[in-house]
Amino acid sequence: MSAARTTAEPLKIGLLGAGNVGSQVARTLVEERALISSRVGAPIKLIGVAVRDVEAPRDWKIPGELLTTDAEALVDEADLIIELMGGLEPAGTLVERALRAGTAVVTGNKALLAVQGGKLSQAAAESGALLRFEAAVGGAIPILRPIQESLSGDRITKVMGIVNGTTNYILDQMDSTGAAFYDALAEAQRLGYAESDPTADVEGHDAAAKAAILGALAFHAPFSIDDVYCEGITSVTSADIEAAAASGYVIKLLAIVEKNDDGAILRVHPTLLPRTHPLASVRGAFNAVFVVAENAGELMFYGQGAGGLPTSSAIMGDVVSVARRLHSGPDHPGTTDTNGDSQTVRALPVDDARTQYYIDMEVADREGVIAEVARVLADHHVSIESMRQPGSVSTDGEVDTEAARERGAVVQIVTHLAKEKHLSDTVSTLRALDVVLAVNSVLRVEVEQ
Ligand code: NAP
Repeated sequence: MSAARTTAEPLKIGLLGAGNVGSQVARTLVEERALISSRVGAPIKLIGVAVRDVEAPRDWKIPGELLTTDAEALVDEADLIIELMGGLEPAGTLVERALRAGTAVVTGNKALLAVQGGKLSQAAAESGALLRFEAAVGGAIPILRPIQESLSGDRITKVMGIVNGTTNYILDQMDSTGAAFYDALAEAQRLGYAESDPTADVEGHDAAAKAAILGALAFHAPFSIDDVYCEGITSVTSADIEAAAASGYVIKLLAIVEKNDDGAILRVHPTLLPRTHPLASVRGAFNAVFVVAENAGELMFYGQGAGGLPTSSAIMGDVVSVARRLHSGPDHPGTTDTNGDSQTVRALPVDDARTQYYIDMEVADREGVIAEVARVLADHHVSIESMRQPGSVSTDGEVDTEAARERGAVVQIVTHLAKEKHLSDTVSTLRALDVVLAVNSVLRVEVEQ
């Protein structure tokens, strides 16, 4: 940790990137300099803003003398670097360069942290530099500091989050209007909630990066995105949403990190939630994170997960907190970098997760079929919580002919909690049965704690 600054010289802040978030941060640092200085308790000064193109138009017009394309020189001159370039490079090299020199870093770059978080934390620990990244998960929502600080005297057992606004908007549209996936995606793109290339969002990669960060902080272990099992929402159909609704569920893309005696399981996948679950009411592009801790019980954090202005709030919170520490020195000597059991929590394969499955399938419409299906589940130690038969798949008005019977009947099963491995083996066996004509969907279910 750097020694407290004793000089009356302003704290020199360098900003890397002035896009959606960076331009708002630059505005706050210039227009609200007096306020921020008073919150810090010492003067601060924005000394430069590194960008690719100094001529590019920006949401807030940055004074020309601040703009530079020499990011390295800015890193070397500043006391505190705010990295808002995004992506792995050159952001990674610049952040590491700052940390190795003992310079504090505030960043919102989840992609970088999910890949290089362990290495960067190590570099910070070695030089005593401060590294903060509240904006990397949940945009404006203060979630990382509560996990790292407020809950540091408790044991977190599980964190579940709606941490990607694009996919929540799409699933919410499908649920509330009956829209098909690609129509809801097109609407999200039209409104600016989804990128023209939505892959990172709809395939779950963005949420997986955030799951790695949440898991690392909750369980004090250097997890990376490679430790996260990831399924996106592209295969969720209107029929799934409708069937879920008919049974009192809503489908959400959840990032789930949970700990058991053997390690931690980190996963992202579409999940059925009972409509009464606190996360089920998170609508549109909003984010929410639900935390379960041994003593605190259940906590929920809710707010805007993206957007230049909301995200700049989280960045500025980190800036003030770091600047105070640089000004006055550490207020405690402790660290939250170990789990307190002097054991590293290891990432477990998703097969070890205990979950519930919702299985929607078409079966031959004849006697004994349900018993056969039930036997397969029992053979795999999976018990049935509920079973629905919404009716034959024959089209409206068709008589109950032999042909219609052969096309089958729909069966929807919700299992009790079981090991993921047993559940996936069950589905493989069901798919191979003659009487199972098709397995339409398999979704995981989260029940209330
Ligand atoms: P953005 O709009 O794409 O802005 C990126 C900025 O970085 C631009 O000003 C760009 O310069 C600059 N830049 C990129 N590569 C550079 C290079 N090689 N050298 C110098 N400058 C470079 O990004 P953003 O939406 O503000 O996001 C910034 C970070 O915050 C990302 O890590 C993102 O994941 C994170 N974040 C964003 C949000 C959000 O709502 N946007 C929410 C949470 C976290 P030019 O302007 O000259 O091209």
